[in-house]
Amino acid sequence: MSSSSTKSPNLNTVTTINRDGSRFFIHPADVSGRFTTWRRFSAILLIVVYVALPWIPINGHPAVFLDVAHQRFHLFGLTFAAQDAWMMFFGITGLAFLLFFVTALFGRVWCGWACPQTVFLEHVFRRVERWIEGDATARRKLDRADWTPGKAAKRVAKHAIFVVFAAAIAHIFLSYFVSIPGLWGMILESPQEHWSAFLFMAAATALIYGNFAWFREQLCIIICPYGRFQSALIDNHTYNVAYDYNRGNPPGKPRDPNAGDCIDCRRCVQVCPTGIDIRNGLQLECIGCASCIDACDNVMDKLKRPRGLIRYATDEQLEGRQSKLLRIRTLLYMLFGLVGLVVAGFSFGNYEPLTARVVRMSGSPFYVTETAVRNQYQVRLINKSEEPMRVHAEITAGDQPVELLGLVDAVELAPQQETSATAVVVVSREDYEGSFRFELVVYNDSGAEIRQQIEFLGPEPQLLK
Ligand code: SF4
Ligand code: SF4
Repeated sequence: MSSSSTKSPNLNTVTTINRDGSRFFIHPADVSGRFTTWRRFSAILLIVVYVALPWIPINGHPAVFLDVAHQRFHLFGLTFAAQDAWMMFFGITGLAFLLFFVTALFGRVWCGWACPQTVFLEHVFRRVERWIEGDATARRKLDRADWTPGKAAKRVAKHAIFVVFAAAIAHIFLSYFVSIPGLWGMILESPQEHWSAFLFMAAATALIYGNFAWFREQLCIIICPYGRFQSALIDNHTYNVAYDYNRGNPPGKPRDPNAGDCIDCRRCVQVCPTGIDIRNGLQLECIGCASCIDACDNVMDKLKRPRGLIRYATDEQLEGRQSKLLRIRTLLYMLFGLVGLVVAGFSFGNYEPLTARVVRMSGSPFYVTETAVRNQYQVRLINKSEEPMRVHAEITAGDQPVELLGLVDAVELAPQQETSATAVVVVSREDYEGSFRFELVVYNDSGAEIRQQIEFLGPEPQLLK
C-alpha cells in the first residue's frame, strides 16, 4: 500500500490529491466525544443487523432472502414472486424519497452514520489499522519508513486481517441470495460445483478489500452518486455540520483579544476522514460524520469556552436567522415518500399467497371449429406459502354464455410450487356475438383470490353465419 503522506495535498483542489496529481493518503487522527460514541453504537447495531438477518428464520426462510434460484424474495415472513416486484418498487421509491426528506432536513446523516462504506471503514477496517499500526502519527511515520521486517510484519498482518474481513462481508452478502445453509453447502463443495458463485465471491472479496484497504474516501468523493446530488437536495435551512464563522473568525491565539473562538489548532482537519477543513464551509467531500464537532468541542472544553463552534446548524442559523423545518421541498419529499410507503404497505397488507398470471397461448389468437370459437390461455400458478394449496378457477362474462375447459379440476400445489395449466375458453357459434371481456377468478380453499380481466378474441360474427 503506497502512501503519499510525505507530500502535501493541493489545498486549492481535492484534498486527497497532491499537487503532482498523486494520491494523498489520509490518516485521520483519533477522536472521542458524544457523536463518536453514538456513531460507534449505531455502527455496531447496523453490523449486527447485517450479519444476523440471514440467520433469523421466519416462516421457514431467512428474514431477508433474495432467492435467486427460485426467483422469490422472502421478506420477514412474506414471500414475493417476480410478479410482485411492483410492490417493492413502491416500497423502494418511498424509502428513497424519505432519504431525500432526511437529507433536506439533516444533510448527509446517511453518509456519516449509516452508509456501509462509512460503517465498515471507520468502525472495522480503520480500527484494525489503528490496532496494528498505531495512531495517525505512527501510521504516517510507518508510511515514510524504509521497509524493515517489523514494517513488513505489520503490513502483512493488517492486510491479512483486511482480506479475512472482506471475505466475511462478501460471504454474508452472498448469503442474502443463497441462504446460510446454501452458502455453507457451497463452501463445503469444490468451487467447480459453483463456478459463478465462487467467481462472484472472489470478485466481491477483492473489491471490498481494495475499497477498504486503499480506495476508501475516494468512493465517497469520486463515485458515490448520492454525494453528487446532495447539493440539489439541501438548502439554507438544512442542518449540516457547520463551522460558526461569526463566532470563530478571525482565528487566532487563545489570548488574542481580537481573535475569534477558533484558535487555528486544525484538530477539526486532522480528524476529518476526507481531509477537508470545514472552516471553508460545506464541501462536497464532507460526509457529515461529525468527527470535527467532537474534535472542536474537546478543544473548546479545554479552553473553557462554550461548545458548538462546529455544530449541526443551518446556513440561516449561522446568519442569525430562523430556520424552517417545513419547506416546499421537505413537504414534497415527505409526501412522495409517504405515498410510496403507504401504497407498499397497503399492498403488503392485502398480500395474497397465491399468484396467477394469464397469458394468451402463442399461435393463433382464436380457433373456430364447426360448433364453437375457442381461446387458449396459459395460466401460471404460484403457491408462495409454506402450506399445500388447492387452486380452483371460474370465469364470468356477464350475459355472454361461456364455458371453461381445462383448469376445471382443482390444481394441487405444494408449498412454494409453481406450475402452469392450460385454460380453454369456449363460446358456441350460436352464442358468439364478437369479441368481449370476461373475468377469470382463481382462488384457493383459504379464500385467497385473484381476479383478472381478459379479452376473448374471435372473427367478425357475420363470418360465422
Ligand atoms: S478544532 Fe475548532 S478551534 Fe481548532 S481549528 Fe478547528 S474550528 Fe478552530
Ligand atoms: S468536515 Fe467534519 S463532518 Fe465533514 S467529513 Fe470532515 S470531519 Fe466529517
